Amino acid sequence: VKGIECKNVFFRYDKGDSNYALKDVNVIIPSNQLTAVVGRSGAGKSTLIDLLMGLNQHEKGQVLLDGKPLSSSNLMSLRQSISYVPQDPFLFNESIRENLLIINKNASEEELWEALEFSSAAEFVRKLPQGIDTLIGDRGIRLSGGERQRIVLARAILRNPSILVLDEATSALDTENESKIQEAIERLKGKMTIIVIAHRLSTIRNADQVIVLDQGEVIQQGGFNQLARDK
Ligand code: ADP
Ligand code: ADP
Repeated sequence: VKGIECKNVFFRYDKGDSNYALKDVNVIIPSNQLTAVVGRSGAGKSTLIDLLMGLNQHEKGQVLLDGKPLSSSNLMSLRQSISYVPQDPFLFNESIRENLLIINKNASEEELWEALEFSSAAEFVRKLPQGIDTLIGDRGIRLSGGERQRIVLARAILRNPSILVLDEATSALDTENESKIQEAIERLKGKMTIIVIAHRLSTIRNADQVIVLDQGEVIQQGGFNQLARDK
């Protein structure tokens, strides 16, 4: 299988815990597909993502990358190929350009704008007083949460990741900003593995597969339509 696979994985944060944060999890995150991970708060979404990124060490079971068990060598390449976008993204009080170049200082003008186009940020950046050289944050202009999220997404894209993880990236946004990010995801679909962690169903309509977690267990896995039918 091309992708990341968990087989009978158990994980707990402390050996003394009687409860596992992940219990007998079997999932496949196929390469170049859009996978959504949903479930209420505390269900184990972040724990699973950390495990898939090699940040959590599982206790039992197997985690396979393209069919091979995670080892120190492929773990390194896995980490290098992941871009992670958190819910509350961090931007430096510098220009938009500098914020983008932090991740790839050799990016050309063309690559910067391509990333901004992909993340639905190009339009508003063009309208700023100094365009891409506009200072943001404390020393410059305030961007809205949605605008910041789109810049952070552009920065993530500039890393040229093979896996893009969006961790509740749209949960704090209004519907207009959410749909901008949705458009961006739609553009990126098929070009890289995309993992979207969400708790709203509206965020995952375009997912190839949905993994539903509840109390550390996978209670459903399948296409969005199948999921809607089961509900
Ligand atoms: P979700 O991302 O779905 O909200 P989490 O993966 O964060 O859920 O949490 C799953 C379970 O693991 C919860 O019971 C949570 O309290 C517990 N947990 C999460 N992080 C830690 C941690 N660092 N130490 C101990 N327990 C944790
Ligand atoms: P929202 O549009 O999500 O309500 P706010 O403008 O209220 O966002 O800002 C939320 C937080 O983000 C505040 O702590 C603020 O200082 C910070 N912030 C605002 N603009 C920027 C920016 N351009 N760069 C970095 N942080 C910012």
